[in-house]
Amino acid sequence: MKDLGKRPVIAECPDYERENVRAALQAALTNIGGLEWVKPGMKIGVKLNLCSARKPEHAATTHPVMAAELTRLLTERGASVILGDSPGEPFNSSMLRLVYNQTGMRLAEEAGGKLNDDFSHHTVSFPEGKSVREFEYCSWLSGCDAIISFSKLKSHGLMGMTAAVKNLYGVIPGTMKSEYHFLHPDPMDFANMLVDLNEYVRPLLCLCDAVEIMEGNGPTQGTPRHLGLILAGKDPYELDRLGAAILTLREEEIPYMTAARQRDLFSSEGPEEYAEEAARYAVSGFTRSGSTCSWFAADPDDRLIRKILKKALYILMRSRPEPENSCTGCGHCVRGCPAKAIVLINGKARIDRRKCVRCFCCQEFCPTGAMKVKRSLVARIASK
Ligand code: SF4
Ligand code: SF4
Repeated sequence: MKDLGKRPVIAECPDYERENVRAALQAALTNIGGLEWVKPGMKIGVKLNLCSARKPEHAATTHPVMAAELTRLLTERGASVILGDSPGEPFNSSMLRLVYNQTGMRLAEEAGGKLNDDFSHHTVSFPEGKSVREFEYCSWLSGCDAIISFSKLKSHGLMGMTAAVKNLYGVIPGTMKSEYHFLHPDPMDFANMLVDLNEYVRPLLCLCDAVEIMEGNGPTQGTPRHLGLILAGKDPYELDRLGAAILTLREEEIPYMTAARQRDLFSSEGPEEYAEEAARYAVSGFTRSGSTCSWFAADPDDRLIRKILKKALYILMRSRPEPENSCTGCGHCVRGCPAKAIVLINGKARIDRRKCVRCFCCQEFCPTGAMKVKRSLVARIASK
């Protein structure tokens, strides 16, 4: 059913100057109903994208000025604000201190927010889940009266794109994320898990930092590109539908969008609803991250023969991780691979293809960008 209240909005924001960010955030928030719901004494959790200890200029993480100005807008209304994330590294104080310092998040602290220092987690059950009915959940989010997701618009090796929906993968603590990758090697299964997490958390508000986006080898080692926007909305699927349209990505290139469509979670009728406004800001020649696409994801009502055909095509189209010569042999990917598929030979990473589950954790956490996602020959021919 169509719900206009869930329609996302775009606000132009030329750069990360504090006044410009504040004005753009205010404009975006006003257009989706304002912050009247924020009451004095309310505890608001802001789930940032702090996927890695990278500096703001790398465009891998939510920009600290965005986090700081949102914090100011919320604290001015009497709320207390706690900000955080759980990168795919050990979820502990020394790792998070490094992440907060590198990503510039001390600015949010100076603005009156608290950077999360609770590294506990607990099991939550979600019987309605399609892919996960029980999962580990970062406890700092449990005690909040409302959750705001403040994501970053980027290319992504496994899911094609990351924005509001993928941002919630960070509710699973630290290195446990690798285990979840291992348990859900099929991209559609993983995509459904992301949707389950979104259905469980249901953030009250979704914001997306798209002033400097990332293209290419995302989500951590890609190339920053200026877009100059903030996206805002109340629905993560709709916000990502708008984001995908701006990046000129088709829904089939983003498995979690396919999962959301199959589960009838969109409130708009289709991406064409955003075509006009997306065209104004479209990122021409956006460089994909070589992602595994969901062109051939089976629909629940497909007949068996169609499912088998789609599966065969899907296998032929699968992308794979591949280390380049610039590999320094640091071993980060060896330690992070959930399938134990990587070894170092003569100081270079080598992948055992029989063990690899194509989760692309190695690509996401390679500190030098040497691990790339390569599209298969069939996928490259098919997309010509
Ligand atoms: S993390 Fe990157 S640089 Fe380090 S061993 Fe793996 S591929 Fe090489
Ligand atoms: S080699 Fe990379 S893509 Fe394959 S299972 Fe290991 S981390 Fe995942």
